[in-house]
Amino acid sequence: MRVLLVDLPARDGVVSKDTVAGGYGSRLLPFSKVTRVISTLKQGFHDVPSVQLAYLAGILEQWGHDVVWSRGDEMAGDVAIILSSLVDYRHECAWSDMARSRGVRTGFIGLTCSKLPQLFRDHADFVVSGEPEAAIQRLAQGEPLAGDVASPEISDLDSLPFPRWNVESRSRWWVPFAGRPYGGGFPLLASRGCPESCTYCPHRILADYRARSVANIIDELGTLCDAFRRPYVIFRDPLFSQQRDRAMALADEIRARKLDLRFECETRLDRLDPELVDALHAAGLRAMSFGVESMDPHTLKRAGRRPTPEAHQRLIIDHCRARGIVTAAFYVLGFLQDDWNSIAATIDFAIDLGSTVAQFKLLTPYPATPLWKQMASRVYETDWQKFDGFTPTFTHPNLTAQELRFLLGAAYTRFYMRPSWLSNYWRIQAPQIRSVVERWDERVARRHAREELAEMSRTVTC
Ligand code: SF4
Repeated sequence: MRVLLVDLPARDGVVSKDTVAGGYGSRLLPFSKVTRVISTLKQGFHDVPSVQLAYLAGILEQWGHDVVWSRGDEMAGDVAIILSSLVDYRHECAWSDMARSRGVRTGFIGLTCSKLPQLFRDHADFVVSGEPEAAIQRLAQGEPLAGDVASPEISDLDSLPFPRWNVESRSRWWVPFAGRPYGGGFPLLASRGCPESCTYCPHRILADYRARSVANIIDELGTLCDAFRRPYVIFRDPLFSQQRDRAMALADEIRARKLDLRFECETRLDRLDPELVDALHAAGLRAMSFGVESMDPHTLKRAGRRPTPEAHQRLIIDHCRARGIVTAAFYVLGFLQDDWNSIAATIDFAIDLGSTVAQFKLLTPYPATPLWKQMASRVYETDWQKFDGFTPTFTHPNLTAQELRFLLGAAYTRFYMRPSWLSNYWRIQAPQIRSVVERWDERVARRHAREELAEMSRTVTC
């Protein structure tokens, strides 16, 4: 059987799918100078192949099937398995319709089709609900999948074959940005799901938290190192260092096996300490991302998120900076408790915390999350594609949609358009230079304030 694994690039904006927003995906349509630059960088450095499809490639090849990766160009095959997303589902459905008109059976996999199968049913022969491996194992063994297909999670992740990659798509790397090489890297899932309970998070709604054994992860890393020179690995676990001993053992084993690789991960800052950071750095850690979300512990608690003490956040970020590890902090603007002042305070906090980069998004009530259930009556947006992380979707008690948009733009401008961001990025520590930079920062902040006032009178007060 010839199977197409289809990961469609979107036609507008920078769209990330696969494990981003748990699988719902995000779409950044530039709305300011700063976000235009970020979009360009994302296109080069965040275009990472789908680890979900790579797992399916491993299963299908194990059963002797012919696997073809497609970005929408290739359409000749017996079956097409299409990665679903919320932010680009109409395009995915249209592609599926076209493939079916040419005689290809099609099916969707991923979080979006699992939680919103009604968007896909009329456009495919089958729609998989749940982590897709169990269903695709049945397909690989000759069962013609049809209709809604339940796919229970695999409890023993070590039993899965390793992801298989399309070699040609991985050979275009050069200068790194924020730790990551151009062309992205190899995503790897050392665990799946998350045991935390943040109500807005779609990472925890498809399946329970499970972790692979260290030996199994090391074997996969060894396979990557055998096939590719010094691979860059992107651990896509929502909470990489959930189990400290396991993370430490993984770092020790990478070094013991002398695996020549670099990697990044995503975690919580309270799941790190300087000793663990040092061990991971020695094993190849070069970048990490983490949620700060809001500076207000009360707001975080109302969203089911355990706050991390500020002193600990600063300790880890400063420690990473000293080691040369890139830090990417995530922030969410527009929690129900937020108002203009609290968001301005969170933006100031983000600048002061001093992570290498920051990502700001608007609170989005994703379908099937506890937040969705809590806020369903406030949601006015009916176009699912607008649930992209950057578009207001619900009636906020304290802020209009224009104000939320304005504050989102101000967050990016204030964080990136200041001299100290550049000096931090280039890790300039000389006290004389830093004091000059701080004075420039003050002037730039005053200019931002003037420009914001002028823009507010044009947009927000209308
Ligand atoms: S810790 Fe992160 S991944 Fe886990 S539920 Fe909270 S936001 Fe989601």
